Amino acid sequence: MLRLLGYSFAALLLSGCLAHKAHAQRSPFSVGTAADAPGKKATGYLVVPAGVDAGTMLPVVVIEGGKPGPVLALVSGAHGTEYASIVALESVANLLDPAEISGTVILLPLVNVASFERKVPHLNPVDNKSMNRFYPGKADGTQTERVSFLITKEVVDRCDFLIDYHGGDLDESLRPYAYWAPTGKEAQDRVSKEMVLAFGLDHIIVWRDRPTDLNATRYLDNTSTARGKPSIVVEAGYAGTVESDDVRLLVNGTLNTMRSLKMLAGDPHPIENPVWLDRVVDIISDGPGIWYPLVKRGTYVQEGMEVGYVTDYFGNRIFEAHAPVAGVVLHINAVPSLQKGDNIADIGVVASHAP
Ligand SMILES: [Zn+2]
Repeated sequence: MLRLLGYSFAALLLSGCLAHKAHAQRSPFSVGTAADAPGKKATGYLVVPAGVDAGTMLPVVVIEGGKPGPVLALVSGAHGTEYASIVALESVANLLDPAEISGTVILLPLVNVASFERKVPHLNPVDNKSMNRFYPGKADGTQTERVSFLITKEVVDRCDFLIDYHGGDLDESLRPYAYWAPTGKEAQDRVSKEMVLAFGLDHIIVWRDRPTDLNATRYLDNTSTARGKPSIVVEAGYAGTVESDDVRLLVNGTLNTMRSLKMLAGDPHPIENPVWLDRVVDIISDGPGIWYPLVKRGTYVQEGMEVGYVTDYFGNRIFEAHAPVAGVVLHINAVPSLQKGDNIADIGVVASHAP
């Protein structure tokens, strides 16, 4: 373990020195144990040594195109039961032909291996932490923090652009949407907006006022954004399903975004009239009980409309959930189980005008 740790620190120092100048092709480009020559696909692992808890190994694919260009990072599976996004990245890894790519693609299809293997939603069961809240991570923290630290150094610091893939978790019925987080830096925001429009999901949340302190960025995409790399988040899939429609949205969106970044040839066909949302409001459960939804994912609701109710275990209604705002149901609890404090639904509020 100590030897591994020493090795990875040496590698990190090296990659840190090269990070800013390295983007215009370097041979071979390696991430973790995945290294290969231009024009090839390499597979391997980001090895996270044991520390205060168990170590883990994250699968990584590096596809170094035959032509020079930028480095794009594609990351999914921070929540290991958001299956459609994980399957989509497996598909992207198989579909991409190095001969057609300008630049390099780093794919991390499954960040939260324990969540996937044990079918645990939301959290990494090793330390009970969300794997998208502890960036930039800590070298000596729990597993989630050590994974986040390694991804920051090995992937975020070395990419030019990043896409983070999510979806409805095992208990979330979700309609597809994306996040765009403007920073106020015109050049960066123009590229990230081009990316999110090229990706093509038809509802886009404008996520403003995010942490800019590099040591407190929390989310993966924000970690990348705060370091000056245009980044977006995309969500599709729901409640344990892997519907071909959802996977297709994520795969085609990725290829179109690569076209917009000139990493693949062809017209990206950006979406022209998405619904822009400028706020997301949660509905939280008041107590434990049995959930009965009255609306579906994607339903547009009026302020005050009943979206579902909760009964006790004798069938008595104990809580009615009303939409606190008018908007679109981005996701709604997909299963009867509810605890106090659980998220029942997220309502996206339509922006008064496009940004
Ligand atoms: Zn997620």
